[in-house]
Amino acid sequence: MSDDLETRRLLDTPARRRTLLTALGAGVGIGVGVVGMPSPAMAAAAGWSNPTLGTLTSGYKTPSRPTHTGWDVANSQGTPVYATADGTVRDIKTNSYPGDTTSGPLPGRTGNSVHLNHADSYFSYYGHLHRVLVSVGQRVSCGQLIGLMGNTGNSSGPHLHFEIHRPRLTSTDPRIFLANRGITLGATAPVGSTGYPSVSQGASGWVPRTIQYLLRARGISVVVDGVFGPACTSAVKSFQTSRGLYADGLVGPITWTALILPLREGNSGDLVRGLQTALNARGADLLVDGSFGSVTANAVRGFQSRNGLVADGIVGPVTWSVLI
Ligand SMILES: [Zn+2]
Repeated sequence: MSDDLETRRLLDTPARRRTLLTALGAGVGIGVGVVGMPSPAMAAAAGWSNPTLGTLTSGYKTPSRPTHTGWDVANSQGTPVYATADGTVRDIKTNSYPGDTTSGPLPGRTGNSVHLNHADSYFSYYGHLHRVLVSVGQRVSCGQLIGLMGNTGNSSGPHLHFEIHRPRLTSTDPRIFLANRGITLGATAPVGSTGYPSVSQGASGWVPRTIQYLLRARGISVVVDGVFGPACTSAVKSFQTSRGLYADGLVGPITWTALILPLREGNSGDLVRGLQTALNARGADLLVDGSFGSVTANAVRGFQSRNGLVADGIVGPVTWSVLI
């Protein structure tokens, strides 16, 4: 299934539309109940944001790639990409295609891309996007969704190629630049993001355990041991393939959003076990029995009220995203 079809299918129903918009960080301002969500960027310098979540895969001007003037951050195709600061869209390139190495707004830069001008002659570049969600001349604010991570241009897997210049064509190491502002490239939650962590092989603990329960709830065979090993990676890939998502075995925002389902009192099964596991990690003391009864409902309400959410005991996309 192409991603266009996947997106259209996800947009089919209002509930799914809300889920997707929340996954895209578009919840802020459209009234889907994000009031009271924690502000993960509070520790970072005001005015700058992490452009995306993911794993750093290639660095700035490395010995093997001396002309690579940015950092690569990999995650699932469709992972939200955000403006790193307030600015204006200087130019964009769209309708690029894999293997296109001949053109682009910057020499040698390919794929669907966005270029932003910022105050004080700062300039940022976002390459290989799956989709561009802004237009030339548009004003954007720090943390605003500008595109979706993709694999367009000269790229071997979905990732964001990210550069910072001052002025244009004078690049600086964007990882160090952001680190100096309290932001860990790829790891600090971007302003406005859903807060879903990117989880991949090597992780262990309650988050992989929750993922394993959610996978089982979707009919994927996996042992629930809290260890994100090769078998868990294979299970994630099976799930991603079954949903038409890019099968990279990494649980990023899009995969999280596809894994979760709304839960309420009366539900039962592995999805509820995943919920109970997460609630216990957040301070509850529940028996992980897969039964969403009044005790679990009370734990949900307690979690919701402690986090400024509507304490309705219903676990929708917003509650899930704060919980994980
Ligand atoms: Zn790159």
